[in-house]
Amino acid sequence: MPFFLDVILPLPLKETFTYVITPAEAAVIQPGMRIIVPFGKRKKYTAISWHVHQTPPKTYVPKQIDSIIDEKAVLSHKQLDFLHWIADYYQAPIGLVARTAVPSVMLLESETEMATHQWDRVPQSLSQKASSLLHQLNHNSTYSIAQIQQLISIKNPYGIIKELVASGCVSLKEAVYAKYAPKQQTEIRLHENIYDDDTLKKTLEDFSSKPKQYQTLLTFLQQKTPVIKADFVKLESVSSSSLNTLIKHHVLTKHQRIIDRLPPKLSADESLTALSSHQLQATSAIKQYWKEKNVVLLHGVTGSGKTEVYMHLISQQLAKGKQVLFLVPEIGLTTQLMQRLYTYFGKQLVVYHSKYSPQERAETWDKILTNKTTARLVLGARSAVLLPYQELGLVVVDESHEMSYKQFEATPRYHARDAAMVLAHKHHAKVILGSATPSIESYAHAQSGKYGLVSLTQRYQDAQLPEITYVDLAEAHRKKQMSGHLAQPLVQAIQETLRASKQVLLFQNRRGYASFIECRQCAHVPQCPSCDVSLTYHQVTKELRCHYCGYMDQYTAACVACGTLAPQTQGLGTQQLEEEVQALFPSARIGRMDLDTTRKKNAHQKLINAFARQEIDILIGTQMITKGLDFKQVTLVGVISADNFLHFPDFRAHERAFQVLTQVAGRAGRLGDKSKVLIQTFQPQHPVLGLVRNYDFPAFFDIQIEQRKQFGYPPFVRMMRIELKHKNMSSLITASDWLKKGLVERFPNVLGPVAPVVGRVRNFYILHILIKLPLNASQSAAKNRLESLLKSFAMVGSFSQVKVAVDVDPQ
Ligand code: ADP
Ligand code: ZN
Repeated sequence: MPFFLDVILPLPLKETFTYVITPAEAAVIQPGMRIIVPFGKRKKYTAISWHVHQTPPKTYVPKQIDSIIDEKAVLSHKQLDFLHWIADYYQAPIGLVARTAVPSVMLLESETEMATHQWDRVPQSLSQKASSLLHQLNHNSTYSIAQIQQLISIKNPYGIIKELVASGCVSLKEAVYAKYAPKQQTEIRLHENIYDDDTLKKTLEDFSSKPKQYQTLLTFLQQKTPVIKADFVKLESVSSSSLNTLIKHHVLTKHQRIIDRLPPKLSADESLTALSSHQLQATSAIKQYWKEKNVVLLHGVTGSGKTEVYMHLISQQLAKGKQVLFLVPEIGLTTQLMQRLYTYFGKQLVVYHSKYSPQERAETWDKILTNKTTARLVLGARSAVLLPYQELGLVVVDESHEMSYKQFEATPRYHARDAAMVLAHKHHAKVILGSATPSIESYAHAQSGKYGLVSLTQRYQDAQLPEITYVDLAEAHRKKQMSGHLAQPLVQAIQETLRASKQVLLFQNRRGYASFIECRQCAHVPQCPSCDVSLTYHQVTKELRCHYCGYMDQYTAACVACGTLAPQTQGLGTQQLEEEVQALFPSARIGRMDLDTTRKKNAHQKLINAFARQEIDILIGTQMITKGLDFKQVTLVGVISADNFLHFPDFRAHERAFQVLTQVAGRAGRLGDKSKVLIQTFQPQHPVLGLVRNYDFPAFFDIQIEQRKQFGYPPFVRMMRIELKHKNMSSLITASDWLKKGLVERFPNVLGPVAPVVGRVRNFYILHILIKLPLNASQSAAKNRLESLLKSFAMVGSFSQVKVAVDVDPQ
């Protein structure tokens, strides 16, 4: 009986793919090894082994594998299981889940190469270009496509290559090369000829007549080891030619050493600060819950010391030799947290996210796979749940309410918070979900007893939560008390804060200068040509930009539609706010934090450090400044407008409004100084705003959960959203109506199709259909029903251009 191997190919395939293997291969292949396999006409891919068995595939004749890369598995068994769960639950091809998980340098595809044979003379039949190429090639050699492109300076050489293949002088082959290479450094050492003081003395005497070499040697002897060549030759007393001479004369030698790509950790690990009595109580309550429940929701007001509590629980797990995963919503915004964790756990901390190079990520991967002590605490965003943990003891999900835990747009559309709970379960590990403003779903699970619930209602050292006041914009406009976009009470509060040498945070959730520009004469608003949004005006660069697709246009002082000069700016972006505030407070030092000012590496960190050192008085920013920052001297937070949050057409709009406003308010008064939050709004009487002012999360929850129940939203139903995209609106409507009909026959509760807030992006029109499933409905039955319907949908010829994506638990 032959042996077969199922592998996961890094391609959008729903299923694993089967190959034939020899009994010898069957004996050594473990799940999670990388296997090179042929797939499709000619290409080779790095696949991941999954399952060895003896049942031949039914629908195709299996091919043989090409080769086995690894001696040991590079994905752990639990991890493979977990990746399959993600594929299954989020209805994503397993290959794409694997490709999201595994650093790209570990999963190479083959490249086409051209191999030359031998020929006596260049065939007459060849075109002039083909024969001139052949003249330049050596016999029996191998050329990459890039080399050929260079040789004949043609971008697309495939026609010519085809001709040469037909002539029999060359053939094509596929090659896979390892792109991962360990990083090496060259070090200088004494040659083994010089083994004691006497030989050294003698050598020095030998070179005493040659001042340059003598000097270089002396300098070498003064260095601390290891002496890195690149640094050494930069020293003033060293010349590289004399170094070479010394090497030639066997005084010194060069040595290659493999080194860590990730920066060395120098900081001593400090011991943790003592917990306050509230924090101690919370910690022991969490541990008590863990005896019977896997997940505990830590609901702690901003500044209550949740991070301190996490750190104590983390250190206990590390002491047991367990791995800990610390998840954050966006790694780029966690500079401060990173510094705090580094101080205590520096030697065991690794950070994992997409800004690291694939090579660096592969190194981190390996450390976690082999359970190295230098990578026991993993700090990362979403994709860190996909790493090859061996012995996970604890998962901390910080700011667990944040919607950026859900991957949207790209497949797999997984929710890292929810997936982390499944991952933890596989490892028998514990989970803390932390938040000052938990999601309605998490809090409902805590109330029902599915999770433990621990609350920290006091700030550390009983610092007061800031007092929240609403500024009525309608009234301020009526009374003509507006200075630009700031109402009098806010201007005054800023003045007082600056006078007291304290700091101000101003929050406006829109970057750029103005949200759009509008002609005063014809009311024309420049639009993105490929998306249904108006372009945002960026004043510094005099550009109009689309924040959805990146389209850019030059700003012109005359309306492009009617030619009237000086179009008006509408709405307010952070750039314009900065200008207004600077004009109002000319001597204040102002900083701005948004996507535009933090694009460069370390820019975010620099701004944060400058603000922490009080080199900035007023920091203006988008949502970025609402997240997790801990500045001691901020006593005033101003929100330019709360209204956008209240009116977003989404069942989570109020939840988000509550979260954002509470979080931004939480940045003030963290040292215990009396502090204020002023929020400008046209609707000061809005019920959500009243609950924010009173920091009354439980009351807010009660209202929300009632509405969710009444209108049938999570956690009372489970949702799947189908997204359809097409360049042509009427084809899209036809397709979505067809699908809706089929869905209605199969599911009790189907809504839509409706267009999302931005109904066209990058030239694709978008429609959403929502399926609501009762909680007791079988998840897999629903999935099968949907899958079979989508299969029939794909068979309809006229729908072949419609892009369909399923989003399970959409946010
Ligand atoms: P949260 O994460 O709940 O917003 P943090 O953990 O950031 O709160 O704590 C708020 C501030 O109080 C931080 O500056 C932190 O260093 C300080 N703090 C909290 N608990 C302690 C403690 N036990 N000892 C010393 N400082 C603490
Ligand atoms: Zn656009």
